[in-house]
Amino acid sequence: MNAALPALLRIGFVLWSALLLQCGQSRSSLQTASRASNDDDSQRQARERMVREQIANRGVRDARVLAAMRKVPRHLFVPEAFQASAYSDQPLPIGHRQTISQPYIVAFMSEAMELKPGDRVLEIGTGSGYQAAILAELVREVYSIEIVEPLGKEAAARLKDLGYERVKLRIGDGYRGWPEAAPFDAIMVTAAPDHVPPALVEQLREGGRLVLPVGRFAQDLLRVRRTAKGIVRENLLPVRFVPMVGEAEKN
Ligand code: SAH
Repeated sequence: MNAALPALLRIGFVLWSALLLQCGQSRSSLQTASRASNDDDSQRQARERMVREQIANRGVRDARVLAAMRKVPRHLFVPEAFQASAYSDQPLPIGHRQTISQPYIVAFMSEAMELKPGDRVLEIGTGSGYQAAILAELVREVYSIEIVEPLGKEAAARLKDLGYERVKLRIGDGYRGWPEAAPFDAIMVTAAPDHVPPALVEQLREGGRLVLPVGRFAQDLLRVRRTAKGIVRENLLPVRFVPMVGEAEKN
């Protein structure tokens, strides 16, 4: 096979999801399914297929990430009206003009965090709580901050219902991180600022990783690593996320 094809495919999918993400920013009624007992065989099969075709096929290799993506019932994190599309290759609206990220992006970012079971992790942008649940499958401690109060409250109830009460949630602006709980082994941002928030880099322990989209229209997914010799920045993938709001817009 043409060696350039996987890369082209990857870019194609990212652009495609960018388009969907934009289209996906419409209003929606945010009714989630009554959660318990709602993970049947067909949902599990859909997840299995999602992991094989959208995630492993595109190069995500971390076995723990793949297992987490197989396990967490994504359809219970989206509004009822979108449940039939929960395992399709796209972001979906979750209300308040926000979206749950495309499965591939969730897996890619989780892998890019290079997580170990004992890690302590911070997420900025709880949204539906789906990424937080994936992180809770991967590490010991998860902190997550959401700026839109109703989304944060819904995510808290959902995570509790699904047995992820270990995730610590806070409503507020995540631009300055969660200093009382710092330092973190890894920090993930799921909304895009146009610069790297300095407080988040400061809240990494030495060896810690910050994975975030940066930019206005054209965004890059970056990994910022705090090392003994200083800060190392890598560009991982072109992406499109909703903008980070609040203090990030003023600085
Ligand atoms: N990780 C989420 C994706 C959410 S989309 C999921 O798995 O569903 C990005 C989220 O970031 C939105 O819910 C948005 O409200 C939130 N957000 C935007 N700016 C923020 C900020 N400054 N602090 C905290 N959350 C923010």
